[in-house]
Amino acid sequence: MATLRVAPKPALAPMKVAQISKPGGDFEIVEREVPEPGAGQVRIKVQACGICHSDVLTKEGAWPGIQYPRVPGHEVAGVIDEVGAGVSTWKKGQRVGVGWHGGQDGTCLQCRRGDFVHCSNLKISGISYDGGYQEYMVAPVEALAALPETLSDAEAAPLLCAGVTTFNALRHSGAGPGDLVAVQGIGGLGHLGVQFASKFGYKVAAIGRGTENGSLAKRLGASVYIDSQSTNAAEELQKLGGAQMILATAPNSKAMSALIDGLGPNGKLMVIGATFDPIEVTPVQLIMAGRTIQGWASGTPTDSEDTLRFSELTGVRPMIETYPLEKAGEAYDRMMSGKAEFRVVLKM
Ligand SMILES: [Zn+2]
Ligand SMILES: [Zn+2]
Repeated sequence: MATLRVAPKPALAPMKVAQISKPGGDFEIVEREVPEPGAGQVRIKVQACGICHSDVLTKEGAWPGIQYPRVPGHEVAGVIDEVGAGVSTWKKGQRVGVGWHGGQDGTCLQCRRGDFVHCSNLKISGISYDGGYQEYMVAPVEALAALPETLSDAEAAPLLCAGVTTFNALRHSGAGPGDLVAVQGIGGLGHLGVQFASKFGYKVAAIGRGTENGSLAKRLGASVYIDSQSTNAAEELQKLGGAQMILATAPNSKAMSALIDGLGPNGKLMVIGATFDPIEVTPVQLIMAGRTIQGWASGTPTDSEDTLRFSELTGVRPMIETYPLEKAGEAYDRMMSGKAEFRVVLKM
């Protein structure tokens, strides 16, 4: 009787990973075994990964309970390279992305209400498990967004966090076509916010510090540019009738507080620039004009697919600077410097 031989799976060569091994540690480029996807997971051959300011949570250990070593990255674009047991709707060779929403438990009260973004046990790529600063990553299928053909990996990556956050905050703000919408901050989030707001049909007032970003803001679709250094931006907004919505993207609570008086009746300050400093507002400022302040985190993978489809249809694109994975530390420093124009993306 012939012996049945099972051919061993060809071993993949080790992969390169940019990891943080302790809170506040530097990026280390190390080799690891390529991970195998478990049940309900896929392995992604990462092609590009954006560097987001929220990666500071992994770099500095600011997320409660984060374990090390950890590979950051929640703006991942790549292609499915292997599927785990029970995965039938996602296929090998399919282009996918992973954003901030890295998976939900499906069983908590919020999930049972269909509110997956606020899952009590939300997983975040690059925090709860290793993210996209590596050549291969494993992700649960709940985290996957399909990528459209016409968007390159490096262009799609920033849309999976910066893009979906601005797109979703704008589309859920209650502002309608023709309304005055202000975008505070012309940076990683703001340069996308101006584009989306313009394509949504709002009259867009871009608010930046200094004059240098004025012509860029107009090229991105702003009707008006307000320099908050040389003018009182809230007064300028009131001259235009008051903003229906202000999308606050720059993580600067003082600057956000100063804009509240620029809101028109029933106007909303939509906060997406994350900082730990308090926003200051008096009850009277809110009561007299029926104003509200709301925060917005990001979105689910299907929100990301909406963002990508809208970007494909309308030509909204992130402005990016690319670095190789080996230079993850330098790329991260560039993002932190605030001088990048405007999203930094690692290419594998
Ligand atoms: Zn992010
Ligand atoms: Zn849940």
